Amino acid sequence: MLLKLKKFLDDLYKPGDKPDSKGNASYYCPFCNHHKKKLVINLDPKNTNFQKYHCWVCNAKGGSIFSLLKRTNKNTFYFTELKNILGKKYGYTTTNKPIQTHLELPKDIHPLHISDNSPEYKAARVYL
Ligand SMILES: [Zn+2]
Repeated sequence: MLLKLKKFLDDLYKPGDKPDSKGNASYYCPFCNHHKKKLVINLDPKNTNFQKYHCWVCNAKGGSIFSLLKRTNKNTFYFTELKNILGKKYGYTTTNKPIQTHLELPKDIHPLHISDNSPEYKAARVYL
């Protein structure tokens, strides 16, 4: 996974350095464009800092590579590709807000659970 992720980032941004023993790889920072590789991204899934990035010059930082893609205005295609690379465990999950739906019966329909004194209601109850 680490190699795929490294290649993904190398293709998207300029190629970064080989990750160190902790999985930190240095990249050119897309925020401040410093001439040296000052953006460090952690590429080791076993590290608690996995996916975190930080630029030592402009202090740009974030908790996931998805946020890096978002902040650098990358196409949704790359989000899908990153999801595939990271898999379910580290994949991006959107907050599942329940979809609000409002259903309404047509005005001339009267639900039978609401009692009514009309002859139609009584006839319908008798029919059932
Ligand atoms: Zn920077």
